[in-house]
Amino acid sequence: MGNNASELVDRLGAIFGPERTVSTPEQLLTYECDGHALERRPPQVVVYPESTEEVRRGIRVCAELAVPFLARGAGTGLSGGAVAARGGVVFEMARMNRILEIDYANRLAVVQPGLVNLHLSLATQKRGFHYAPDPSSQGACTLGGNVAENSGGPHTLKYGVTTNHVLGLELVLPNGEVVRTGSRMGDVPGLDLTGVIVVSEGTFGIVTEITVRLTRNAEAVRTFLAVYDDLDRASETVSGVIAAGIVPAALELIDAVAIQAVEAHLKVGFPTDAAAVLLIEIEGLADEVEATATSIETIARAHECRSIEVAGDEATRRRLWKGRKMALGAVGKIAAAYYTHDGVVPRSKLPEAVRRIQEIAKRHGVRVANICHAGDGNLHPLLLFDPSDRDEITRMHDAGKEILRMCVDLGGALTGEHGVGAEKRSCMPWLFSENDLDQFARVRSVFDPHELSNPEKVFPTGSRCADVHIARKIRTGGWL
Ligand SMILES: Cc1cc2nc3c(=O)[nH]c(=O)nc-3n(C[C@H](O)[C@H](O)[C@H](O)COP(=O)(O)OP(=O)(O)OC[C@H]3O[C@@H](n4cnc5c(N)ncnc54)[C@H](O)[C@@H]3O)c2cc1C
Repeated sequence: MGNNASELVDRLGAIFGPERTVSTPEQLLTYECDGHALERRPPQVVVYPESTEEVRRGIRVCAELAVPFLARGAGTGLSGGAVAARGGVVFEMARMNRILEIDYANRLAVVQPGLVNLHLSLATQKRGFHYAPDPSSQGACTLGGNVAENSGGPHTLKYGVTTNHVLGLELVLPNGEVVRTGSRMGDVPGLDLTGVIVVSEGTFGIVTEITVRLTRNAEAVRTFLAVYDDLDRASETVSGVIAAGIVPAALELIDAVAIQAVEAHLKVGFPTDAAAVLLIEIEGLADEVEATATSIETIARAHECRSIEVAGDEATRRRLWKGRKMALGAVGKIAAAYYTHDGVVPRSKLPEAVRRIQEIAKRHGVRVANICHAGDGNLHPLLLFDPSDRDEITRMHDAGKEILRMCVDLGGALTGEHGVGAEKRSCMPWLFSENDLDQFARVRSVFDPHELSNPEKVFPTGSRCADVHIARKIRTGGWL
C-alpha cells in the first residue's frame, strides 16, 4: 500500500475507528463484486458509517485525497453498480438502517438508506399500509440501493417504480456538502432534483436519508395462476389484458424452464408440463376486483389458457408468490451459473420479443429461462451457462447482446429496473445520441465535477466522446 493509500486508511480510521475501517485483502474480497459477479474489483478500504455526519467526513477525506468512493447497500445489484471500478472507498450502508419516523396521517416514512425494503412494509402492515415497490430481492436489498437503481418489482405495474414513491432525499455531495431535496408534501415548485438523483446509480453522491410514500393496503386482492400449453398464448394474454385497459397489480410470466426449476426446489404447485404460467394479481375495492376478475378470465380463456386457478386463501397466495419471488434462486440450482438480463419492450411487442428470445438462445446453443414482469414489458431472460466452458460463455454473451439489441430495436430500452451500472454503459449509444449523452454528462458534472462518486458507471467514458470508449470496448472484447 503506497503512502497515499496508507494516509487514506489512517484518516478514515480516525473517523470510523479500527473496527469500522476494513482494508486487508481478505476482508475486501466480500466487496469485490455485487450480484452481477462478472465485474470484479476490490476497493482499497471499506468503512461502515452510522450517521450522515460520518458519511460527510469520510467523503471529505476522499475529496481531499482525490480518491473515488461509492455507497453499497446489500450488494444485490445486477449491473455491477456496487463494484469499485477504480478502487477507492466503499461506504457500506448496512448500519444506517433505522426507520426514523412513520407518519400515517400524511402517509409517509422517513428512513435511513440501509433499511431493507421489506422491513418497512413489515413495520407498517399492522396499520394497513405498505411500501409499494417490491423487488423480488426485497428481503435483502436496501432502500438506498432501490433509490439509486429506481427499482421496480411485480407490483410496480399498478403502483409505479421507486421514483413514484420517493418524496425527498438527503444527499452528501462528492465535495462533502449535505443537501436536501423534495419535501414531505410531494410536489414542490422548482426543479425536481429528487427525480434526478433517483436513478443516478450513486454517481451524484451518497443518499443518507429517504422520505417515502406509504401505500394503503387494498380492500380486496385476488391472485390467479393461469396455465398455458403454448408460450405465445401466455404472452398474447398479457398484451390482451393491457389492451383491454386493465391494469393488474402484478402480471408475471414464468416459462417452462423456470417452472421446472421452481418445482424441483420449491414445490409451490406450478404444473411441470406447462409451457408457461401467468401469475396475475388484481387489487382494489371488492366490487371492482370482482368485475376485473371476470374480464381477466375471459381474456385468458380466449387465448387458450389450459386452466386458471384462483388462490383461495392467503396461504395459497403466498405459496404462488414464493414461486415467483424465489424463481431466480431456483434457476441457480439447475445450472452452474446464469446471467440475468433486463430489457424492456413495448407491451404490444411482448409476444414477438418472447418468441425472438427463444429463437436467439436456440441459435446460440444456450438454455434460457424466462421470468418476466410481463405487464410492464420488462423481460428477464436468464441465460444458463457453465463458467468453466469458455465457448459457452462467449455464446451466452453473444446471445445476451443480441437480445438486448432486439429490445432496443423493438422500441424498448436497455434496462427496466436493474440499472445500467458497469454492465451496459457501453451500450448507451444504442439508445442515446452523442448529444443526449453529453447533456447527461453535464448534469452529472454539476453534482460531481471530478467524477469521484461511483466512477465508470452509467455514462460511457467521456460521454462527450463516447465513441472512444466504444472503440476501446470493441478492441478489448469487453462487451458486458
Ligand atoms: C434474486 C434477485 C432478484 C431481484 N429482483 C429485482 C426486482 O424484482 N426488481 C428490481 O428492480 N431489482 C431486482 N434485483 C436487483 C437489485 O436487488 C436491486 O437493484 C436493488 O435495488 C439493489 O439494492 P442493494 O441494496 O442490494 O444495492 P447495491 O447492489 O448494494 O447497490 C446498487 C447501486 O446502488 C448504489 N447505492 C446503494 N446505496 C446507496 C446510497 N445510500 N446512496 C447512493 N447510492 C447507493 C450503489 O453504489 C450501486 O450503484 C434483484 C436482484 C436479485 C439478486
